[in-house]
Amino acid sequence: MTVTRPHPLRRAYMLDRRNFLAAHLHRAARLLEYGYGVSETDTPHLFRLQRGDGEGLRTHLVDPVAGCCTCPFHRRQVEVEPLTTDGVVLPCKHILGLGKLVEETLKALRAESDHRRYFPLSAHWIATRQELRRRHSRLLELWPTPDERRRSCQSQSKTCGSAR
Ligand SMILES: [Zn+2]
Repeated sequence: MTVTRPHPLRRAYMLDRRNFLAAHLHRAARLLEYGYGVSETDTPHLFRLQRGDGEGLRTHLVDPVAGCCTCPFHRRQVEVEPLTTDGVVLPCKHILGLGKLVEETLKALRAESDHRRYFPLSAHWIATRQELRRRHSRLLELWPTPDERRRSCQSQSKTCGSAR
């Protein structure tokens, strides 16, 4: 019988989930400090994250709307096995930290008056946030809470009442 050892990431997650998640969130909130740069792409909602240069250059494509990233952490969970035992894919630090990284990058570009990079990234970010809001509000319509359902019924009956 062969016993396969769990992947190091999975082992670290299983051994001390609390610490693992704390470190994960810590890294996600400090992408700029860790040397990540971000730029828009030609595809809606898709961002290019880069770190390092030359041989050490790493590029990841992140789509926060789809919740996807091309990094090994995310891909391994989707293609091989998730870290969690219930099969839920734990978002990578790039997905979790994208918002802060973009905001910090835009602030720096504005301070440097780098309009050539600022405006396309800003427009891409605004469109992405609008799409996230649109999808979120559609989910709320699909799964209204009892309170929201009641309010929606009340406003509908008001409209019907005045339409006589
Ligand atoms: Zn990632």
